Amino acid sequence: MSFEKLSFSNQFYELGESFFSVVQATPLRDPFLLHINSNVMALLGIPMSDIESRRGLDIFSGKSSLADQPPLAMVYAGHQFGGYSPRLGDGRAMLLAQVNTDYGVLDIQLKGAGPTPYSRGADGRAVLRSSIREYLGSEAMHQLGVPSTRALCLIGSEEPVMREGIETGATVTRVAKTYIRFGHFEYFHYNGQHAEVKQLADYVIKQFLPHAINAVDKYNQLLLMTVTATAKLIAKWQSIGFAHGVMNTDNMSIIGETLDYGPYGFLDDYEPGFICNHTDQTGRYAFDQQPSIGLWNLSALAHALSSLISKDSTREILHQYEPILVDTYASLMRKKLGFITETKDDHKLCSGLLNLMAQDKVDYTVLFRRLCEFHTLDELSLSDDMKKSALIDNNSQISELFTQQDKWKTWAFDYKQRLKIENSSDIIRCDKMKKINPKFIARNYLLQKAIEKAETNKDKSDIDTLFMLLQTPFDEHPEFDDFARPPKASEKHLEISCSS
Ligand code: AMP
Ligand code: MG
Repeated sequence: MSFEKLSFSNQFYELGESFFSVVQATPLRDPFLLHINSNVMALLGIPMSDIESRRGLDIFSGKSSLADQPPLAMVYAGHQFGGYSPRLGDGRAMLLAQVNTDYGVLDIQLKGAGPTPYSRGADGRAVLRSSIREYLGSEAMHQLGVPSTRALCLIGSEEPVMREGIETGATVTRVAKTYIRFGHFEYFHYNGQHAEVKQLADYVIKQFLPHAINAVDKYNQLLLMTVTATAKLIAKWQSIGFAHGVMNTDNMSIIGETLDYGPYGFLDDYEPGFICNHTDQTGRYAFDQQPSIGLWNLSALAHALSSLISKDSTREILHQYEPILVDTYASLMRKKLGFITETKDDHKLCSGLLNLMAQDKVDYTVLFRRLCEFHTLDELSLSDDMKKSALIDNNSQISELFTQQDKWKTWAFDYKQRLKIENSSDIIRCDKMKKINPKFIARNYLLQKAIEKAETNKDKSDIDTLFMLLQTPFDEHPEFDDFARPPKASEKHLEISCSS
C-alpha cells in the first residue's frame, strides 16, 4: 500500500457545507521530519518509505494534498471555562482525508498548517513545543489503555511563530475515528439549526451505533453512548493521574476519546487539587474536578440534543454517568492494588492510601509501581506490632516514600491482611500489577527537556527515547531508570499555559 493506494471515504464531505469550510494548507517554511509513528502508519496501511519520502514531507507540512478532495475545517462552538463561545471550529487543524482501513474509517487531521475561516485572527500555527507535547502525550495515553486520538508524524520547521516570544512552527498529523466534539452539536443547536443537529446525530449513529439506525430511541442511545464513554474515560484519567487542563466542551470527543492535548499534566506528587493549566486561575479543571466537569459537559451536550431527546429521558441517561464512573474507577483502582476479588472495604483502603499520599506528597506513579513489589511475609510467631515493623522493614523501598511512618505502617498492615483474601503469591501478583501500574509516564519535566533539546539543537534524541519508553510504559527498561524518576524540586511546577 502507498499513498496512491489508500481508499478514501467521503462521508463527512457528504454532510454538506453547513458542517465545514473547504480550506487550503499554508506550507511550513523548510520543514523537516522529527518523528514517524510506525504503529499508526500500520493502522492506515502506509509504508514508512512513503512518509519518509519528499511527498510524505510535503503532505504533512501542508505543501501538497493527500486525497483528491481538498482539506476541510469543521465548524463547532463550545463552552469555554463555563462561558458559551458561539463559533469556534478548526482554527488550525484540517481534515486531510478519511481513509477506509481494516479498523473502520480513520480521519487524518493535520494540525498547525495555517489559518482557516475559524482562526479568529490567529495564525493557524502550532509551535514545536506544543506539537511535541501532543505527539508524545497522545501516544502515551493510548499505550496506557486510555482512549485517545493517535499521532502519525511530527514535523518541525524554520517558520517563525509568535507566542510569548518567537518560536518555530510545527505540525502534528493525528488520526482518530472521528473529531466530532460536543461543541459541534452546540453550534447547530444554539443557531436553531435543528435539522443539522439531527443530520450530525445520524452521522455519528451510522458510524458508531450502526445497530441502532432504525431504533425509535436511537438519539437516546447516542447520548447514552457518549455518557458511558465519557464516564469510563474520566475514570481512566483519574486512575492514571492525568489532568487534561482544558475540558471545554469543544475539547470533548463524542466517542469519549482524549482530544486536544494542550497544557495537560500527569501527576507527579499525588495532589488532588492539581491544576496543570497555568491559565486556569480558579481551578475549574483541577485534577479532582474532572469527574464533575465531565457531567457538566455532558449536560451541555444533552441540552444541545434537546430537539431530539425528551427531558425525562435526558435526566435518566445523565443519571447513569456517576455510577459508571465510580464503578470503573473502583475496578481500576482494585487492579492497581492487585485485587482480583472485591470486598466492601476496598474503597476505604484505597482512599486511605490516597489520603496518606496526598499528606506526604508521594509521587503517584512511583508509589503504585513500587507497590507491585510489596512483600506480604507472614511470621506467625510474631506479635501484631512486630509484624507491622517487619512489614515496613521488608518493604523499605515503599516505606521510604512516606514521612508519616506510623500511618503508613497501619495501612501496610491492613493491605497485607486484605491481600490474604486474594490468596495470590507475591510474584504472580507483582507481575499482574506491573501490567497496569506504568513505570514511564509523560511527565512535564521530561517533555520539557525533550522540547529544549529539539528547540536549541534540533536534537531529537529525547523525543526518540521518550517515544520508545511511552510505547512500552509497563516494561522495566532498567537502563532508562532516569526517565522514571519524579522531578527534582527545580523541575517541578513548570508553568504550562493555553498558549500553543
Ligand atoms: P484550543 O484551546 O487549542 O482547544 O483551541 C480553542 C479554539 O481556538 C479552537 O477553535 C482552535 O482551533 C482555536 N485556535 C487555537 N490556537 C489557534 C491558532 N494558533 N490559530 C488559529 N486558531 C487557533
Ligand atoms: Mg481545542
